[in-house]
Amino acid sequence: MHNVWLGVKKSCEVVIVGSGFAGSLLARVLAVLGYDVVLLERGIHPRFAIGESSTPLANLSLERIGIKYGLEDCYNLATHGRWLAHFPEIRRGLKRGFTYYRHHPDEEFADRGLDSERLLVAASPHDSLSDSHWLRADVDHHFVRQADAAGVDYCDRVELTSADFAPDSVRVSGTRHGTPFELRANFLIDASGPGGFLARQLSIPSGLDKTETRSALVFSHFDGVGLMKDMVPGLPEGPYPDDWAAVHHVIDEGWMYSLRFDDGVTSAGFLLTPAGIASMKSVDPDNAESLWRALLRRYPTLESAFGEATPLMPIAFRPLIQHRLTRVAGERWALMPHAYGFVDPLFSTGIAWGLRAVERLALAFESAAGGRRVPDLEMLTRYEAALSAEADQIDLVVAGAYEAMAHFDLFAAQAMLYFAAVSFAEASQRLAPTESVAWNGFLGVGDSVLGSLPRESLSRLREITQGRGETGTASDRRKFVDWLTQAIALRNVAGLADPARRNLYPVDFDALISRHALLGMSREQLLQGLPAMRGMAPPPRIQSPRDRGQIVPGAELLGRDLL
Ligand SMILES: Cc1cc2nc3c(=O)[nH]c(=O)nc-3n(C[C@H](O)[C@H](O)[C@H](O)COP(=O)(O)OP(=O)(O)OC[C@H]3O[C@@H](n4cnc5c(N)ncnc54)[C@H](O)[C@@H]3O)c2cc1C
Repeated sequence: MHNVWLGVKKSCEVVIVGSGFAGSLLARVLAVLGYDVVLLERGIHPRFAIGESSTPLANLSLERIGIKYGLEDCYNLATHGRWLAHFPEIRRGLKRGFTYYRHHPDEEFADRGLDSERLLVAASPHDSLSDSHWLRADVDHHFVRQADAAGVDYCDRVELTSADFAPDSVRVSGTRHGTPFELRANFLIDASGPGGFLARQLSIPSGLDKTETRSALVFSHFDGVGLMKDMVPGLPEGPYPDDWAAVHHVIDEGWMYSLRFDDGVTSAGFLLTPAGIASMKSVDPDNAESLWRALLRRYPTLESAFGEATPLMPIAFRPLIQHRLTRVAGERWALMPHAYGFVDPLFSTGIAWGLRAVERLALAFESAAGGRRVPDLEMLTRYEAALSAEADQIDLVVAGAYEAMAHFDLFAAQAMLYFAAVSFAEASQRLAPTESVAWNGFLGVGDSVLGSLPRESLSRLREITQGRGETGTASDRRKFVDWLTQAIALRNVAGLADPARRNLYPVDFDALISRHALLGMSREQLLQGLPAMRGMAPPPRIQSPRDRGQIVPGAELLGRDLL
């Protein structure tokens, strides 16, 4: 991989700040579309990054990006089976679904058979089609190398000092190894995540005070973490092995994620509510390791699983992980989602949302490729409106889930809201794909049934919990579960919220077929589309941009030899 020499390169069409997977992938797609792109990174790859668990919607985006822009590796990284076959050296973990347990202080996790406080929702019918946890050091390194190979001018270890916008351009200045440089571009994309490059340059005000979710984080990567199947050996069999999933341990103070990679390393972290942190007052929060150990001591089953595990890097503490801005895009700039806002890892929305934004901005640049070469304001306004509504929606779904943690029945019901939204989106996107599908609202935004549910759900939950973690009466909880079940019914294509399932949900194609009408399809149409859902459709022929000699629309008018 080469570093572009910024003393020589004085201008480009698009400058992207930050080479996480989102920045690198977008840079590469824009290069494929014929744009002259510079990608600037303050660190170096490979490097640790958090945010590892992908989801079916994330992988659907990755597949679409792979197919549309001829990026075969994206298509192959979109299922665990293809990943293993094509990129065994890029570390990952098998993720069959979403596993939740409710733990109580000073008690072992109670095995009550099918009445256990345990919820499993499968995201894939078998291992080879499953999602993966991304070992971000490897995955991000892969994507930045691919961007470089696609013709993106990449430069690491840059210290950016300013971005000055003029009506026709943006000028980015900074230093590399103490040597100053200046770069003129038509458009700037901020993919710096919480690094917040443009937020500072444009003095974009924070919008955090209008959001609901607040949590702190204590986390690391660990070796030697025990499996829940060994900690609680007699649990009834679920739709997949409990541990090969995004495992969530709900506790009084918040929750813990535990993501196992195929090589045995586990990424784990506690997300702590403000009340949860306050309850740890005897522990110095600046001493992350002692906070970690104190939390484990409260929960014996977690202590058994993690007590002997070795952190592979120092356990770290972040007092507040949320951020949110009040703007997303302007005349010559746009933020990627993680630069705009972040809520919480609950429900693993980050990667899917980031990839959706890659698709959307790629479409915006594609439509400008033959003309202005920068997305028009209408597109950027659309992008801003989408991200803003979606950030609110994620916040409401997650805030509702935090309220619902007061009682596992409430939590399992609130989780159904998320699963209904994503399974409906996945089925409709797979069965009836359209060119503009990337603009569909995320998590039910814009959907006449799902759109308003998270807000209403949060309000109903708060009535029960009084915002103080109260569990309400059995009748309050039953009413909430019944309401939620009814509320999602018109989007419930996955057989969710079904008491007969006892909180163990496999991928249910029979439910999907019987509910064909909810997707606006006849039974026959759905049956015809089913191979696309089961991963049995013939693999698409992905031609690299070079092989297909693709010239972007209008490129010939500009007299540019683009590919
Ligand atoms: C605790 C936690 C757990 C999470 N778990 C999940 C999960 O399980 N699943 C999921 O989908 N999402 C998860 N997320 C969200 C996920 O981390 C993000 O969605 C994802 O990292 C976004 O990727 P990105 O490429 O946009 O940005 P980032 O990964 O944040 O990359 C930003 C890049 O920009 C660089 N940079 C920063 N500032 C500058 C600058 N001034 N100049 C140049 N370069 C700069 C950084 O060095 C970095 O390389 C989690 C987040 C947190 C906090």
